[in-house]
Amino acid sequence: MGTKAREIAGVDVAGLLKMLNKAYADEWLAYYQYWVGSKVAKGRMRGIIAEELEEHAKEELHHADMLTERIITLGGSPVLSPQDILKESECGYSTPSDPNTKVLLQQNIKGEQCAIETYKKILDHVEGKDPVTYSIVLEILKEEIEHEEDLEAMLEDMSTPVK
Ligand code: FE
Ligand code: FE
Ligand code: MG
Repeated sequence: MGTKAREIAGVDVAGLLKMLNKAYADEWLAYYQYWVGSKVAKGRMRGIIAEELEEHAKEELHHADMLTERIITLGGSPVLSPQDILKESECGYSTPSDPNTKVLLQQNIKGEQCAIETYKKILDHVEGKDPVTYSIVLEILKEEIEHEEDLEAMLEDMSTPVK
């Protein structure tokens, strides 16, 4: 465990670990929601949307990886079971029981908006105190903003009439 790293964190480490673990749980659910959504997607723009969902899935898994490294450095442990992932998650899981591409986009946009709020809260919490967590979370936040934009643009394209 990163003894000095904990010491310089500048915030209550136990509280920060709780926030990071909740975000970590969200990332796993986001990963699975995107991944399974990309498999079952049906309807308009299926190919391009499935491809984008699959790419986002990989990026969410990478976020989980970035968070778990920080959690471990700070002396914590990532959530260890799927049951606890569901329990700890703030953003939750939207089951893609309707595979329609438009519905999938809407569900995932909702998830991205929750993620953006979560990471903004963590940034505000550590700003000026823990620059290492700040920079990791900022990197993730930038990608969540990009995800929201990608999905909203595709939803917009979908409703643009063909000329
Ligand atoms: Fe993410
Ligand atoms: Fe995302
Ligand atoms: Mg993208």
